[in-house]
Amino acid sequence: MSDTPAPTPAAGTTPLPLVFDEPRGRKKPPRHLADLTSAERKALLEEQGLPGFRAKQLSTHYFARLVDDPEQMTDLPAAQRSDLVAALLPPLMTPLRTLEADKGTTRKTLWKLFDGALVESVLMRYPDRATVCVSSQAGCGMACPFCATGQGGLQRNMSTAEIVEQVVAGARSMARGEVPGGPGRVSNVVFMGMGEPLANYNAVIGAVRRLVDPAPDGLGMSARGITVSTVGLVPRIRQLTTEGIPVTLALSLHAPDDELRNELVPINTRFSVAETVEAAWDYAQTTKRRVSIEYAMMRGINDQAWRADLLGEVLRSYGDWGWVHVNLIPLNEIQGSRFTRSRDEDMDEFVRRLESKGVPTTVRDTRGSEIDAACGQLAALE
Ligand code: SAH
Repeated sequence: MSDTPAPTPAAGTTPLPLVFDEPRGRKKPPRHLADLTSAERKALLEEQGLPGFRAKQLSTHYFARLVDDPEQMTDLPAAQRSDLVAALLPPLMTPLRTLEADKGTTRKTLWKLFDGALVESVLMRYPDRATVCVSSQAGCGMACPFCATGQGGLQRNMSTAEIVEQVVAGARSMARGEVPGGPGRVSNVVFMGMGEPLANYNAVIGAVRRLVDPAPDGLGMSARGITVSTVGLVPRIRQLTTEGIPVTLALSLHAPDDELRNELVPINTRFSVAETVEAAWDYAQTTKRRVSIEYAMMRGINDQAWRADLLGEVLRSYGDWGWVHVNLIPLNEIQGSRFTRSRDEDMDEFVRRLESKGVPTTVRDTRGSEIDAACGQLAALE
């Protein structure tokens, strides 16, 4: 080791980053205990010459007690605390802004990640449950023309811990009584924020595992309370079917025919409506979980009565076993977009036609739309 200071880079050159861990020289998000299984957490501490049994205490602080201030981790020896926290609980993101709607029961947070990427999450409290809507990617590569996030392209995948941290932050707000209605818990998580979860498959599955792992390994949530929403990456839906974690699958269909779906959900040119719906049906068969078909209602685009009939036929062609229900989302209008929300009477007729075919149909509330926190509005483009 030498005490000579590192040479100052010549003017106009960029200093070399200290860590090269990706082929393109891109730095990875900090490694955090939420990225790891409990055995891996222990091993990591030991590798760093720290006592492995402390991993469980750190995990308890994070997942069970929802502590984020190291000062409060008084069961850790003061001399070791900062090393332990640095090893397994590095800061992952900072809140830049929080917006509230619905008398404080809907809260949208804009997060800045370690590399400056911006993502959003939304906490929604209802009388009987509290849901966190999480982002799984910074940006999105799926390019659906009616979605705000789709317009900016993909910046990067999020890590497992970055995804989990959004839920833990919501759980802290609930536990601390920051949301009107008294202290409570997060019961549901929906992967309906920014990004295509199945395009970041491993990190998303890791996050789902952390959410359902019993405390202190994870948050101990029920898989039934977790919904993964996808444009329909068919091979990934098939892979999800084999994971043995019965999350709810939501399929963003938005059109029952290939011609229109090719335009609204461009990945449809790779995986047709028939292939996609079949993969969803297989998912329902295997997991016994009812699939949710998402359908954003766009005036004059996909809201015609004949399309409701066709959608009903497509879904019913797989049997009337009750494998599916349709969730109509009144389009959240994006400024400057050619897509507008369907008229109420057209939505009513759409519901009526689907129900007459025996397909259970609900119309989603559009919570948070005034703070641009509703589905498809999360853009985080500062
Ligand atoms: N990539 C995932 C998650 C995206 S957001 C997916 O596509 O499923 C969750 C839902 O919001 C999707 O069904 C998406 O199509 C829908 N959505 C996107 N933009 C919307 C908008 N402007 N209004 C209403 N729903 C929208």
